[in-house]
Amino acid sequence: MSTELYLDANATSPVLPAAAAAAMAAMQDCFGNPSSSHACGLRARALLDGARARARRVLGAASGRVLFTSGATEGIQTAVLSALCAVRERRQRGEACGDLLVYGATEHKAVPESLAHWNRLLGTGLELRVLPVGADGRHRLDLLRELAPRAALVCTMAANNETGVVSDLDGIARVLAEAHSPALWMVDCVQALGKLALALDATRIDYAPFSGHKLYAPKGIGMLYVREGAPYTPLLCGGGQEAGQRSGTENMAGIAALDAVLQALEEGGTFRTPAQLQAARDRLAASLQAAFPALVFNAPLAQALPTTLNFSVPGLGSKELLDLFDAAGVRVSAGSACSAAKAAPSYVLDAMGVPPERSASAVRLSFGPLADDAFIDAACERIVHCGRALAQTAGQAAAHLQQFESCGASGWLLFDEAGRDCIAIDPPAALAARIASDLRARGCRLLACFDTSHGAGGADTLGELLGLAPGWPAGTPPLQPVRLASGAIVDALALGADILARDGDAYLLGRARNGMLASEDVRFVFGALPADAGYPGALCCHRIGEPAVSRPGAASWPDGDIDLDAGAAAAYLAAHPDALLVDVRELPEHAAGAARLHGHDARHVPLSQLAGHAAGWLRAEARPLVFVCRSGNRSARAARLLRRLGHGQAWHVAGGLALAG
Ligand code: PLP
Repeated sequence: MSTELYLDANATSPVLPAAAAAAMAAMQDCFGNPSSSHACGLRARALLDGARARARRVLGAASGRVLFTSGATEGIQTAVLSALCAVRERRQRGEACGDLLVYGATEHKAVPESLAHWNRLLGTGLELRVLPVGADGRHRLDLLRELAPRAALVCTMAANNETGVVSDLDGIARVLAEAHSPALWMVDCVQALGKLALALDATRIDYAPFSGHKLYAPKGIGMLYVREGAPYTPLLCGGGQEAGQRSGTENMAGIAALDAVLQALEEGGTFRTPAQLQAARDRLAASLQAAFPALVFNAPLAQALPTTLNFSVPGLGSKELLDLFDAAGVRVSAGSACSAAKAAPSYVLDAMGVPPERSASAVRLSFGPLADDAFIDAACERIVHCGRALAQTAGQAAAHLQQFESCGASGWLLFDEAGRDCIAIDPPAALAARIASDLRARGCRLLACFDTSHGAGGADTLGELLGLAPGWPAGTPPLQPVRLASGAIVDALALGADILARDGDAYLLGRARNGMLASEDVRFVFGALPADAGYPGALCCHRIGEPAVSRPGAASWPDGDIDLDAGAAAAYLAAHPDALLVDVRELPEHAAGAARLHGHDARHVPLSQLAGHAAGWLRAEARPLVFVCRSGNRSARAARLLRRLGHGQAWHVAGGLALAG
């Protein structure tokens, strides 16, 4: 896909051209220091004062302080520091000020981290309390009512960055007032600017941090509103800038850029109205539902920002969806992170009680208020294209050996030549439903389904889903006897022209001749390889371990030097015409957008099917291999695996297609 569609605006946004021009003018023409008293300084001062005046108008903050900061994280620190210093002073004066620091369960991490940090540093010894949210993502006002009388500071957000859920700020204010709470109140307004109406003067809010880069200003500029009369302690001291409230020479380029964005907000006409944004979001939501019929939204759309969609597709991990979208040039983000070692579902969705599988597969799609109809049209089209790519590959012919990974454990599917019969070994429980529907879509018959170590995998779940008793089969047929090189007669299961023989805790896949499975005819071993077993050329496929495939007895090559940047990869491919460029992205990603690198077409072998191809590449070891993927992670794993298996010429494109241009 030639053009990139950026749908990750809640993470950051591009810079509005008018804002970039304003920043450039501030750097080149109006570059003075606003503290200087000469004409250059006075011009910069006028720019600074004008920007602050405009910010006051846009935020509805005629009174109180409006400071320019480096971003919301600084604004949050300043608010927390100010509140805690005030608590300390009030306590010293013997005034009641509460003993709890209450924060919403779905706050950005900057909030609880700052609370814990300053509470520890200042020795205030207040108790941190999480304010739970309901299934709709909104704060539990009944629980706030209980905490409010003891709260010294309450931190809630105007809208959540992952789900877009808009808080009931009026409801929170009402509870605080009714409970006669002594609490100061901070509202993180980062995701609200430009999307929700703000009239800070009319609220009880004491502190409101903002961040420029979430709304078309550059990174490194933000604002902090402090209500008239709310306690204030500077975070930064020095030259006395910002009337001594935030020292350090002002970031004039950032302020000028933010001013241009605020001007666009104030004058109207640049950004789309909330109603237009909502219509755009509804179209995107409809495309997503059409593309992925099983899709579920993780937050009620009626109560969310009109620019954010958080969804899961049952059976698909967020990484897979992200990779699929990325292959189609659509940049979205995961609502959660799953490393090889541990699943880390989104704490925001967890707090809403979203089931862990759904939370671990969440994807966030967000756009900014500049998005016009043409952009939304293109995004809808690409989403539908992604759905088609996924559907098209669901029933595609399987490789003979397919690996499934889930949080550090691997499972294996073995297919016959026609892709009709299949055996599942250690299928990960988390992927059982997905494997079952995939096998159904392929019209595949599951012959056996078992775990190599008792109770470790998801054979029971998969077996139940496909109506097959889990475990190594019993009886003849389907089992048949086969003689091993050791002379032992063992049970084997036919899989096309191959057999899977069970030798104690090891399962041997190979081709038998005349009722005999010779050692050199064993191609893959699953489960525990007997210490004395000599299967030259066989690859061992493990349930746990990185790499999941090994080759006992093979001299592995050092895997330190496997990186080629895009330029070096092009030079390498030119110098080695026999080299094979291998795209290790998964099938749907490939279907969404094929990989080409500097005029070279890549052979497509998904990482999940690498083990099946590795044996062939090892036999033709002289042929260099250059792996490529989206970001360089999977291709590095592929190159490292081949080196460890004994291939001396395995490389990968560091930075992947993302950096290859
Ligand atoms: N609060 C929310 C809700 C955010 O989304 C972010 C940014 O991700 C922050 C705070 C931190 O903002 P900044 O990057 O300006 O420090």
